[in-house]
Amino acid sequence: MITFQALKKEYVTKGKTFAALDGIDLHVEEGEIYGVIGFSGAGKSTLIRCVNYLEKPTSGKVIVNGHNFAELSAQEIRRVKQKIGMVFQHFNLLQSKTVFANVAMPLILQKVPKKEIKKRVDELLEFVGLKDKAGAYPENLSGGQKQRVGIARALATQPSILLCDEATSALDPQTTSSILQLLKKINEEYNITILMITHEMSVIREICDKVAVMEAGKIIESGSVFEVFSNPQTQTAKNFVSTVMHDAIPESVRKQLTSGESNGRLFKINFVGASSGQPLLSKIAKQFDVDVNVLFGNITELQGIPFGHLIVELLGAETEIKLAYMHIQQENVTIREVIADAS
Ligand code: ADP
Repeated sequence: MITFQALKKEYVTKGKTFAALDGIDLHVEEGEIYGVIGFSGAGKSTLIRCVNYLEKPTSGKVIVNGHNFAELSAQEIRRVKQKIGMVFQHFNLLQSKTVFANVAMPLILQKVPKKEIKKRVDELLEFVGLKDKAGAYPENLSGGQKQRVGIARALATQPSILLCDEATSALDPQTTSSILQLLKKINEEYNITILMITHEMSVIREICDKVAVMEAGKIIESGSVFEVFSNPQTQTAKNFVSTVMHDAIPESVRKQLTSGESNGRLFKINFVGASSGQPLLSKIAKQFDVDVNVLFGNITELQGIPFGHLIVELLGAETEIKLAYMHIQQENVTIREVIADAS
């Protein structure tokens, strides 16, 4: 469990004070996968580094597993930090050490007996699928394999929290997916809370339960992945969501809108959950004197819930269109009229 309360982190450069974190309030529940997304410079790294006390807050609190670092002795801080693992974008492996030695390193530092280290490292390498690479050196591994070593090392001390700092940003899409699935497996099998920072919405969509959007040191939006993806509030969140949801009106449809070719009225209908588009539209066409022309549609799944949208043209008398519109509004969908330059 991680709680940030009114967290502020300021840096002073050349006499000027700059707030990298400007009043962060956020709560990460035990067992959650929480994603923090933002553009470069938003403050994500600073935030994650406050969780393992690599950065000391200027003011406010960071409470990790019930402990406020600011109130602990150096020895107590070390003990709390042992329960936090970290995975890095560029893996941070020791090039001169074997895979086995890299994973063993945190245990050696904790002076764990050799026999126990051997048992634990063998288990971890098996878990991350690198049993046959124990004697290999990092330079002979692929990016995905290096990250698996990084993850095994982060798990060595049996943490309850795993921090992932752009853990898949240096990897190709297929490898990214396999690493994300490994993180999901860690979360499910070991009930490890994961806090991950990323600039890729696809990462959030693939495994996170909740998401917070950061901008200029502040959290500007947060909620379940479903909530934020299906109904983003801020322009920044809308921009991030559109990178994966492809909900913009295609150029061909947009041209049709601006050319005045359309005789009817155009609407965008968002469907959530059990409500499905097709039966509703055929019902409308039967019940009212309107023709329904589907111009564009997209349906996807978020956290196991169907979510999609349709752009439809309703043709008919004004009063009939109005009645059809009012009927659609009463269903479990949102509908709004689309204007030529809308997206
Ligand atoms: P992100 O991870 O979202 O890219 P960072 O947390 O790395 O953002 O940085 C947030 C802001 O804080 C940036 O403007 C960065 O230049 C500044 N910053 C980060 N670390 C320091 C530091 N040690 N000294 C001065 N400024 C810093």
